Amino acid sequence: MKTDFILAAIDAVNSAILSHEADIEGLDRDIGDGDHYINIKRGCAAAAAMRPELENLTPDAALQKIGMKVLSSIGGASGPLVASFFLEMAKAIKLKEPISLADHAALFATGVAGIQHRGKAQVGEKTMMDVLIPVSTLLTQLASTHSELDADAIHAIKAEAEKGMLATRDMLATKGRAAGLGERAIGHIDPGAKSCQVMIHAVCDMLLGQAH
Ligand code: ADP
Ligand code: MG
Repeated sequence: MKTDFILAAIDAVNSAILSHEADIEGLDRDIGDGDHYINIKRGCAAAAAMRPELENLTPDAALQKIGMKVLSSIGGASGPLVASFFLEMAKAIKLKEPISLADHAALFATGVAGIQHRGKAQVGEKTMMDVLIPVSTLLTQLASTHSELDADAIHAIKAEAEKGMLATRDMLATKGRAAGLGERAIGHIDPGAKSCQVMIHAVCDMLLGQAH
């Protein structure tokens, strides 16, 4: 994975998040404290603004800097969680440069495991993990049968992210702020699951060479 890819993915995610303000904000107002969109937007903008200082760095150094910036610029529960994704990938990429699709799937899984290590949420707890874990599992499966992600595989990843996000609607929240709501959280999509789905779709669309 090259630094150029990381920077392009950050730009794609940044613009996708900006175009989903209304839906993400509304979800955290429904079952949180309404700040999730602002938190994520701030983190994405800060990461995108780092381009000049990241451009000439190795991928591990770029991921490390992005992780530290995300940690200091995203507030709330999601800041340290999203930061772990980048910081764990930075450590892993330093040890082994990902070349094959299987390497990239393993790298993504390492980032997701970093979030899980910090937040301790499993699938079914109405968090961002309901998108990230199934997507990581699918990516690993696809890497066992594909040498590259073709358009069908990328569409399958998008569908998996969408499915995971929608599945949070009927869940009770057992982690995070929404956990205090009990049954009242049912019927609302988790904001972190939504923002992760938007981010995954943005990177997939970038890979598909489409505008989003
Ligand atoms: P806060 O809850 O502090 O206001 P945000 O609104 O930025 O922070 O983020 C809320 C999102 O964080 C939730 O929608 C959920 O997806 C995610 N989240 C909260 N706790 C956890 C956890 N323990 N593990 C994974 N994700 C979590
Ligand atoms: Mg919040």
